[in-house]
Amino acid sequence: MIRFEQVSVTYEGAAAPALRDVDLTVPEGELCLLVGPSGVGKSTLLGAVSGLVPHFTGGTLRGRVTVAGRDTRTHRPRELADVVGTVGQDPLAHFVTDTVEDELAYGMESLGLPADTMRRRVEETLDLLGLAELRDRPIATLSGGQQQRVAIGSVLTAHPRVLVLDEPTSALDPAAAEEVLAVLQRLVHDLGTTVLLAEHRLERVVQYADQVVLLPGRGEAPVVGAPAAVMAH
Ligand code: ADP
Ligand code: ADP
Repeated sequence: MIRFEQVSVTYEGAAAPALRDVDLTVPEGELCLLVGPSGVGKSTLLGAVSGLVPHFTGGTLRGRVTVAGRDTRTHRPRELADVVGTVGQDPLAHFVTDTVEDELAYGMESLGLPADTMRRRVEETLDLLGLAELRDRPIATLSGGQQQRVAIGSVLTAHPRVLVLDEPTSALDPAAAEEVLAVLQRLVHDLGTTVLLAEHRLERVVQYADQVVLLPGRGEAPVVGAPAAVMAH
């Protein structure tokens, strides 16, 4: 579902590439955990999947990244909305509307869907994420875990086949983090969504992962495998 072929990313003015010669395959319907120390290129790798790198960051991407067969360099991130949904670290930075319901609807705006389909998808997503009772609430009044679920919901209404999240639990207390991870697990198991998630506190997430990708840094190749095998590395 996600494939990297010999991918290197170099930002303008940087002495060394942020990613070097990465080969990676994430099968459909798996939850893949991306780990590694700060600065090794986790966000860059996620950005190459969502198309933000290099469209919005500048720099150059060599090699090829495809998501559901679409090359993320030749499609604008907007054109990938029904393929890949991206949730950043800070849900507040993500929001463009006031209420929960409006935010979920906003994620579909570029897709040109009929009004009744959009309404149905909002309802379905409110239920899926346990947000139905919060639909009219201003997002600013929600807890961190609730806000993170709204951020996830706002990209899910586009029915992306891949969901990319950058440290979605790092700002959350353990209970809220569990809520968010339970939602991700449900997406993988019930809808067959492919989830790629970067975290630096891997102990929280590793039990949910089908595959772990470790970026060791220092220009070394990624270590890819089942959680137990990579943890033993
Ligand atoms: P991580 O997510 O693992 O912390 P990043 O992908 O954010 O790593 O960063 C990898 C390297 O690329 C770092 O040296 C960082 O400073 C640099 N970098 C990240 N984003 C940019 C950017 N937009 N422009 C220039 N350099 C960047
Ligand atoms: P439409 O595509 O017209 O919006 P539905 O909302 O009924 O139709 O969804 C079609 C199918 O998509 C349903 O079988 C539903 O289970 C599934 N589905 C629901 N949520 C998601 C999602 N977030 N990603 C992918 N498929 C989903």
